[in-house]
Amino acid sequence: MRSSKSGAHLCGAEAIVDENSISKTVYSFVKRALSSKRGIPDSVNLKVEAVKKEPVYSPLLPVFHVSQPPSEVLAELFKVASVPPSLGLSFYSLLLKGPSPTGEVMRGALIVEIPSGKRLEPDKFKGVRASCLGITSRALKELKEKAGKFYTDRLKDALVLTSKICSYPNVLGELCVSDDPDYTTGYFSIPKIGYFRLFNLKPYGLSKGGRVIFVNSNLEVPAFIEYLKEFPFIGNSFPGYYFELPFR
Ligand code: AMP
Repeated sequence: MRSSKSGAHLCGAEAIVDENSISKTVYSFVKRALSSKRGIPDSVNLKVEAVKKEPVYSPLLPVFHVSQPPSEVLAELFKVASVPPSLGLSFYSLLLKGPSPTGEVMRGALIVEIPSGKRLEPDKFKGVRASCLGITSRALKELKEKAGKFYTDRLKDALVLTSKICSYPNVLGELCVSDDPDYTTGYFSIPKIGYFRLFNLKPYGLSKGGRVIFVNSNLEVPAFIEYLKEFPFIGNSFPGYYFELPFR
């Protein structure tokens, strides 16, 4: 699902579901589009298509619930991911300003090469979108049980998306700041380590945000973009929801 107003992106969502759940899912996506805090859309596009490639089933990243303010931990997280903290923080600031060349929100993610800081996404206005994402009912049950009162559908969607991104070789990490003005929670995730859930990552009321995928220079951009767009990825287990950082 993709909704927009006067051509500007408002919100998007997707899922891999079995046939019996198609109508229910389409209904929930339309509802989501119409209740977006970013405004009432003048266009909602929905596409339903059969999964054409054999899905990859993979464990989701573990989630670390970070109680410290982002300003205290982000630099350390960037270091763990081998992203120079000053570069990581400069892209964090860019997301808060609006990362497209016109200062608007992008539909997709930036791809940033480390250590050069060069932006590799072919379209700097749109960025790159990851698609073909799903979660098994078993993994969803584990996530709901382990996250308990901290579970939200947004957490589920973001965790599946970033687990797919982080499964690709030469990805170092991914930073996400929501563009929803009343949603200030985001994350930084690091392959094989985890999803660090960060609170108060932006000022309340700000309609800016985005995603940055940090990669090293061995990454082949066209193959990575094809993987993000076209290879079905289904999370099939969830390791745990933790309150202690794994490296302190
Ligand atoms: P959200 O977490 O939905 O508020 O999205 C935050 C930002 O992440 C958006 O402004 C987009 O730039 C980017 N984004 C959202 N969905 C995707 C996706 N499926 N793939 C890549 N980037 C995305």
